[in-house]
Amino acid sequence: MSAVPIEAAAEHVGELQAYAEAVSGCTRCRLAQGRTQVVFGSGNPHADLLFVGEAPGFHEDKQGLPFVGQAGKLLEKLLAGIGLARSDVYIANVLMCRPPGNRDPQPDEIEACESHLFRKLELIEPTVVATLGNFATKLLSGRPLGITRVHGQEQETTIGGRKVVLYPLYHPAAALYTPAMLKVLEADFARLPELLGRSLAPIAPSEPEPGLTLVGASQPAEQLGLF
Ligand code: URA
Repeated sequence: MSAVPIEAAAEHVGELQAYAEAVSGCTRCRLAQGRTQVVFGSGNPHADLLFVGEAPGFHEDKQGLPFVGQAGKLLEKLLAGIGLARSDVYIANVLMCRPPGNRDPQPDEIEACESHLFRKLELIEPTVVATLGNFATKLLSGRPLGITRVHGQEQETTIGGRKVVLYPLYHPAAALYTPAMLKVLEADFARLPELLGRSLAPIAPSEPEPGLTLVGASQPAEQLGLF
């Protein structure tokens, strides 16, 4: 839990809740037509660690909660391995509505939904944002590099004027059936406590606020898609 004054914390919980209610009827993209409900996200509204997955699947769409299927069970197991529970972190997705047949998110759907994700980031104020898989990683890094290339490589990113550590991870759904990938995911997960303990230098007042601008990354320019 972040060390925020109680009044500010309560205000943010209220705002996050109010935002969830406000967007529960979102019709910004075609996915509104096929969904059972919007899956806003869940967890600790003051979490230092925010996970961002891809999109709700069948079970998430039915239950209205992210990562409740097999991938979610693996995520919970990985969290338990580093001494955390779902209630310690916040879990959201790039898309809030289920794509039909669990197909990949389309660029216009991501664009329609991204301001919802950015608002969550502003309200939760995490210090570490762990992106699960290609879609979240590419969106939040602003780079086209695939997860195979960048997993486990943290980078400082400025989001809405706040510095966060962006930490790309393999998507648990991909690791479910690939033991070698699971080993890598476990090893990358094991570094989360260290990243959560790392304090970030405050942003200099003169620094521009470009939104999603990388401030500390130096990544190779090759893309290897995972999915
Ligand atoms: N469940 C989610 O909520 N998101 C994913 O990306 C996968 C499964």
